[in-house]
Amino acid sequence: MKNIAILGSTGSIGTNALKIVRSRPRDFKIIGISGYSNIPLLAQQIKEFNPEIVSVKDDAVISQLEKKVSLKGIKIYAQNIGLDKIVTNKKVSIVLVATSGTVSLNPTLEAIERGKIIALANKEPLVMAGQIVMERIKKNKGTLIPVDSEHSAIFQCLKQEDIKQLRRIYLTGSGGPFKDFKKSQLAKVTLEMALKHPKWKMGKKITIDSATLMNKGLELIEARWLFDIAPEKIEVIIHPEAVIHSMVEFLDRSVIAQLGITDMRLPIQYAFDYPRRLANKLQSIDFIKTKALTFFKPNSDSFPCLAIARQAALKGGSSGAVMNAANEIAVEAFLLKKIKFIEIPKIVSAILKKHSFIKRPVLDEIFQLDIWARREAELLCYQH
Ligand code: NDP
Ligand code: MG
Repeated sequence: MKNIAILGSTGSIGTNALKIVRSRPRDFKIIGISGYSNIPLLAQQIKEFNPEIVSVKDDAVISQLEKKVSLKGIKIYAQNIGLDKIVTNKKVSIVLVATSGTVSLNPTLEAIERGKIIALANKEPLVMAGQIVMERIKKNKGTLIPVDSEHSAIFQCLKQEDIKQLRRIYLTGSGGPFKDFKKSQLAKVTLEMALKHPKWKMGKKITIDSATLMNKGLELIEARWLFDIAPEKIEVIIHPEAVIHSMVEFLDRSVIAQLGITDMRLPIQYAFDYPRRLANKLQSIDFIKTKALTFFKPNSDSFPCLAIARQAALKGGSSGAVMNAANEIAVEAFLLKKIKFIEIPKIVSAILKKHSFIKRPVLDEIFQLDIWARREAELLCYQH
């Protein structure tokens, strides 16, 4: 029996993780969950999984929840201390980090410090503070298992291998809904169009990032830190069928790939069961139906976010944190229909250029720059 905590239990990853727990009650026990403001779903999850500890947005959400479900015997906290209470709980052995944005960084670091196994879905801890996170893993001899499907794929491909013999990583991406769009077509993209991802069903923020290709950019930085590999050795390839979730090439030019259906339960289960592989009821790939696997170079002219992120990866230091913060604000503004789709990369690029670069930022500096970049991006998004 593994004791699990899920940060972001009401989200897309969180609900998929709970499907796994539901299907294997003898293997997994939920000790802690955190949601934010989805009261009906939180009430349902509390009833079904009976967690010992719960974190939500604030006291108002707690009062609302009390009206829907008995909280007797449950320790329930507001967000400012709740996430910390969950990851420091002695019973928890695996923490799935799948909450939204920047808020994931501190609990990830704290969970590493407490010796928990980290199943990491969030990109932000590595994009903002990859060096600090990986140093902490090393210092604590910790285990970090990526849940992002591409990184889970690379992790699986490298399981038996010496990372020093790695020649290159092929980071694959479906290309999103606008894969074949020219710049002129992208100028007319609406929110509704951008929210329709051809292959994956995900939260809104990551769905927009997939449409701008910033998601691949964030993943490039994520991979750079996770596998301690120079950004130059990470190649992004568009693979519309999304059957291959990523590949690695070794010095002898042999390539190993990981393949699977597009269902996030696969990488989540892999992280929960690691290092074992256990049976499930998911579908196999239907190779006959798939017919062909195709590959294309990403169109960097139409999708500048990818080049912006590569530049940030090469520069390192504070670039990832600033890029991430500016992008979050720009995506939020696009979701609110305040800016156009093609303005997202322009805003991110402008903030990155303006920021006072720090080569080796400490955590405090990262958080300060995060706040600065958000404020600057808001000015650009909402003052016209
Ligand atoms: P969702 O938007 O679906 O879920 C976000 C979760 O975080 C919800 O539980 C939400 O609570 C909670 N939340 C929202 N705001 C806050 C806040 N300020 N503080 C604390 N919790 C908050 O996201 P996804 O599940 O899609 O993604 C989660 C992470 O995993 C992201 O970093 C994403 O990039 C990454 N990821 C996701 C993939 C996917 O397939 N979805 C694939 C690979 C990576 P509530 O709803 O109750 O308000
Ligand atoms: Mg991914």
